[in-house]
Parts: sequence; C-alpha cells; structure tokens
Amino acid sequence: MDNNDDIIKQGLEQVMNTYSRFPMVIVEGRGAKVWDANGKEYLDMVGGIAVCILGHANPYLNRVLKEQSEKLWHVSNLYWNKPQIELAGKLVNAANLGKAFFCNSGAEANEAAIKLTRKYFYRQNMNNKTDIIVFKNSFHGRTMATITATGQDKYQQGFAPLLPGFNYAEFNELGSVEALINDKTAAIMVEPVQGEGGVLPSSAAFIEGLRKLCDEKGLLLIFDEVQCGVGRLGECFAFQHYGVNPDIITLAKGLGGGFPIGAMLASNEAAKGFEPGDHASTFGGNPLACALGNAIIETVNNKDFLLQVKKKGDYLKGKLTGIDDARILNCRGMGLMLGLEMSCDNKSLIELCRLKGLLLIGAGPMVVRWVPPLNIETNELDQAIEIFKQALVEWKD
Ligand code: PLP
Repeated sequence: MDNNDDIIKQGLEQVMNTYSRFPMVIVEGRGAKVWDANGKEYLDMVGGIAVCILGHANPYLNRVLKEQSEKLWHVSNLYWNKPQIELAGKLVNAANLGKAFFCNSGAEANEAAIKLTRKYFYRQNMNNKTDIIVFKNSFHGRTMATITATGQDKYQQGFAPLLPGFNYAEFNELGSVEALINDKTAAIMVEPVQGEGGVLPSSAAFIEGLRKLCDEKGLLLIFDEVQCGVGRLGECFAFQHYGVNPDIITLAKGLGGGFPIGAMLASNEAAKGFEPGDHASTFGGNPLACALGNAIIETVNNKDFLLQVKKKGDYLKGKLTGIDDARILNCRGMGLMLGLEMSCDNKSLIELCRLKGLLLIGAGPMVVRWVPPLNIETNELDQAIEIFKQALVEWKD
C-alpha cells in the first residue's frame, strides 16, 4: 500500500467522511514544496491552510522540536512549564496585552474568548450581558459555540439548536453593528480579514469604528486572528496593520507552524474574568507546542522578516493583478493572504492547477486563496504564477 490510490482506498473505508479531499496523499514536504505518494512534486500555496508559515520540515523548527522532545513532552496544567510561560510573555508583550490562555486550535481559542467574555461581565454582577455581535460571512470554527458565531448557514445546517446570545451584523457596515447593540451586548467579535468568507479585509474606518463603539458602550472587542495573525499580513498581529488595539485576540494556525496550538490573549482587565476552575484544556500550553510557538514568534516578530512578508505579498499581488484574464475580477488581501475573486466557480481551476503541480485553495466558491509559507522564495512565487497562468489558458469554466 504505497501509492495514492491504494492508500486513499483504505482512507475512504476507515476515515470519517467529513472532508471531500483531493485524490492525493502527501507524504513529504520541504519549504514550499510537497510530494505525494506517487512521487509527484507540488508547489504548495496552501501551507496546511495558512498554518506552515515557515514551510514544511523547517530545519530550525525540527531542531527545536527534537530538543524539547528530549527534555519534556507534557505535564498538564497542574504544574508550570517553562516554554508556556516564555510564550505567554512573548505574545502578550508583542500584542501589548496582559495574559495568555493556551489551547489546541482556533475553535478552542474562540470558545475561550466567548467564555471569558461572559464570565468577565458575570463577575461584575452584569449577568444580563451575555450577547456577542458577530458578522455575516465570518468563520470562527466548528464547535457548537463557534458554528453559532460563524455567520454562514452552511456550517450551521442540521446542528440546531444553536447557542443563544449571538447577533449577526453586516461586515464592514458600522451602522448595522450599532443597530444591534442593546443592554445584553457584551462584545463584538470580528476577523480583521475574513478568511474562509473570501479573503475580505475590514476597512480601517470599520475597525476604528468598532473600537469606538466598544469604548462608548463598555463592550469587549475580540479580534479573531486565527488565520490573519502571526505575521500573515506583514505585521506580527493583524491589529497592528489597523493600529487599533483589541481587548482579546485569538490565535492558532501559524502559531505552531504545523504543530497544533491555539491561544487567547486578553488585556489584564478582561483576563480578570477567569479564575482557577473557570476554563481549562489538558493539552493547552503543552511544552512541545509552546517550544515551537516560541521559535515561531522569535522568527516572525522581527522587523526584517515582516518587511520581507510585505514585499513578497506586494510582489505576488502585483503579479496576480497583472494577469490578463477577464474571469479575474479583483485581487484582494494583504501580505501573504491574498484572494483572487473570479467571475465563476473556481473548483475546476484549482483542480487543474493541482494536476499541473500547484496547490491552491478556495475561499468560498468564487475566490482562489493564496496563503503560502511566509518565508517562500520569490522564484517559487514566480513558478507558481507561471503554472497558474498556464492553467488559466487551458481552463474552460
Ligand atoms: N477562526 C478563523 C478565522 C479561521 O480561519 C479558522 C479556521 O479556518 C478558525 C477560527 C478555526 O480554527 P481551527 O480549525 O483550528 O479550529
């Protein structure tokens, strides 16, 4: 059982049917390249969906993981561990926030933010403040609370009853947020750049307006930076791109570079909501995950590195914008989180690219998303663009 078809046959029989996967088994990766079980090479502009920010099998991360694995794997949160404390310090200092909570995924980080919000107001005897304003077209995860927070029917269908306490505003429309605020409103939760919803950036005025509304009404502002944080936009955190400070940030994806980790960062004030026993995770803040998180943040939170991300992002955006094809409507996003809006369904285009050795991902049916490793080489971007252009020539939508 060593070729794509044989391995997939067993997968189809025994792995739960929750994904419609491409018919390939990735067996190896290095930098921005991966190989399947048949030995075919691909340029990877997906990076595990914006996760492998320093590329596959990064030698530095391999060393960090090996060193930590030889010292200590797991102790639970009954005890302190050094990598967790170090990572908390790095993150809260870089984000100008107060405290970090660690978990294992983006959905869990958002769950933590939802629970912290409710408990923060509960502790101040404001039990009525339970509701969170979220946005249409957003994506916050697949747990019951986070599919409720997600403003897209397709993720909620068949899972009723959903959780009470979420109200859906129009993205980038401040007036629709204002209209939803009432005595029960506790927080506003937003992706600075909507990822799964189609790589849609918030406008600066929208983000500034949300901060102002939260200040005026005494609400917490939560930024879901699970996809757009950790250097993706060319800043360590997405909020720095907007120059607006949130009260809570959620992170995951790139924070472990491929090792599962999630984090919620909160201001010292908001963090007062949690006391021992209020929230927990067996694996959260595990030494292996945090050792990698430390290595990632050390690498990413560096002026030169972030400048390179911006430069490569601008370069890629320039090249994509320059493609002469009437089916491309626009290229949006920033840094190395870009989306090409197409006039028609992109599924067959993405499959054509894959057959030609280029991995891409959709963000909804009409947007082709580019989220390569942040340390990708310019010549690899050139190769990817060449393959993409050839695919466009052959593509019959
Ligand atoms: N929030 C955002 C903005 C995301 O893009 C995602 C995943 O795509 C999540 C939350 C959920 O993260 P996870 O799949 O790690 O639970």
